Amino acid sequence: MMMHRAAMRDVVIVGAGLAGLVCAWQLADARPRARVLVLDQGRPGGSSALAVGSFTAAGTSLQRAAGVEDTPAEHYADLLRLVDLEGDAGDLGRYRRLLRWFCEEAPATWELLSGAGVRFAGPYPEPPHRKPRMHNAVPAARAAVETVLQLLASRPKVEIAPGREVTALDRDGDGFRVTAGEVERCAALVLACGDRSAAWGRVPGLNPDALGRPIEMAAARFGCRDHPPRYAPSLRTVVPGKPHVEPQRHLVEAGRALTPAGTIPGVRLLERLDRLGGQEVHLRVAEERLRDRPVCTYPGIGYATLDHLLEQGLARRCGPEVEVGPLRVVVTLADGGLDVDADMAVLDASGTPLPGLFACGSAALGGIQLNGHRHHLMWAAVSGRRAARSLAGTPA
Ligand SMILES: Cc1cc2nc3c(=O)[nH]c(=O)nc-3n(C[C@H](O)[C@H](O)[C@H](O)COP(=O)(O)OP(=O)(O)OC[C@H]3O[C@@H](n4cnc5c(N)ncnc54)[C@H](O)[C@@H]3O)c2cc1C
Repeated sequence: MMMHRAAMRDVVIVGAGLAGLVCAWQLADARPRARVLVLDQGRPGGSSALAVGSFTAAGTSLQRAAGVEDTPAEHYADLLRLVDLEGDAGDLGRYRRLLRWFCEEAPATWELLSGAGVRFAGPYPEPPHRKPRMHNAVPAARAAVETVLQLLASRPKVEIAPGREVTALDRDGDGFRVTAGEVERCAALVLACGDRSAAWGRVPGLNPDALGRPIEMAAARFGCRDHPPRYAPSLRTVVPGKPHVEPQRHLVEAGRALTPAGTIPGVRLLERLDRLGGQEVHLRVAEERLRDRPVCTYPGIGYATLDHLLEQGLARRCGPEVEVGPLRVVVTLADGGLDVDADMAVLDASGTPLPGLFACGSAALGGIQLNGHRHHLMWAAVSGRRAARSLAGTPA
């Protein structure tokens, strides 16, 4: 019997979130003849399509137009105070180098998205950043995903394959075999499968598909180093058709929370979130406590005030109080993933790059906890672009 052997692709990308899509786009432009397959278990978008849409960058034309003088070096200095790095001395040095080039490449990557047609508002102040660095995609992060998808539609060598969950990864000579229903063969493999925010068990992920299984497959099959995810539950609005926004701390602390378990003062609620996984919560707050203050970040406009939440149906008046919600206790994102070098090549346990294996986006955060407000979308785009340059053999 003749065995059918799948045609060899140059590159298979696992995951069509922002990181995987930017990687495919940039690779198609740098190496137009490369045959690229992007596999996604669902529809393209991932967590990137659910996100608010804040991109943090320093030194952009939007900042300059607003009279904000800012540099990647200042961004890096702020970022270092915010992130949490796990690992030995060698890891910490590598993470700092990755973060430095992340800040250096963020403005050019932002210009690339903006030049491609993604509209941004801002820059908005973003404490504890010292300069206004929040650039908000309009109307939301989905706009960036859709723009890149549209660009990819005219790149004939790139195929996007939705509804194909990757269930196994193996070596195939110098290349790889990727099982996603059918088996695909490729010379180079990029893991852009997002984070594992839905894999905790105690508190559900806001994106229930964010299981990041290919990270664990790669660790088991190829011996790459995987840093376990760290989970931090938070509150998000869950009104159908409306964005999932997180109330700012002062809003929660100012009020009391109505939960199925009873009424909890807002301050205590924040301490108990990991015990309230998935539960629906309403916050009752005296209206005057929220007047003229931003109450949560919001797609397109940076921050919403109470009036905006009332207008959007995310809050309603109850006598002298307002009720915000419904909210749900969820995990929005969970950092921790594969270790990579500056080319986005995945490293084995001894720190050696594994030939042909790359990662980008949240899957490639290693032991970096990317705290500090709105760095994840920018990291997805910057690291996707960087992985593409490595695959195309062009200098970074
Ligand atoms: C509500 C919300 C708001 C947010 N707001 C912001 C914000 O404003 N700014 C910011 O910086 N960050 C924000 N984040 C975080 C940010 O969206 C993510 O960290 C970022 O989008 C990750 O991008 P990614 O491309 O790495 O992963 P994703 O966008 O999650 O893409 C991963 C893709 O891989 C696919 N995949 C996974 N496993 C498999 C498999 N086995 N087989 C095939 N495909 C697979 C998934 O289906 C998915 O499409 C927010 C997140 C949420 C949920």
